Amino acid sequence: MAKIKVWIDRDQCIADMVCVSLCPDVFEMNDEDGKSQIVEQYRVEHSESKSVGIVPEDLEDCVASAAESCPVSIIHYEKIEE
Ligand code: SF4
Repeated sequence: MAKIKVWIDRDQCIADMVCVSLCPDVFEMNDEDGKSQIVEQYRVEHSESKSVGIVPEDLEDCVASAAESCPVSIIHYEKIEE
């Protein structure tokens, strides 16, 4: 079944919460550094500079709207087969 791999290049996050507003099922703010991250449910990797998640395909539109609207274009995604 296809899934969506999504990652955030956190270094350049300006913490405006656009992704969280558009797609709270996938994105949230980190309480410590104030930058965006993938929600725990889907997170597979996390560091200061990068947060990675694998989400169900039905969240693709949600992820895409966040990626298109991020003002610094640091949200990326691709379809993967699992
Ligand atoms: S939309 Fe982009 S800049 Fe804004 S909080 Fe999300 S990842 Fe950070």
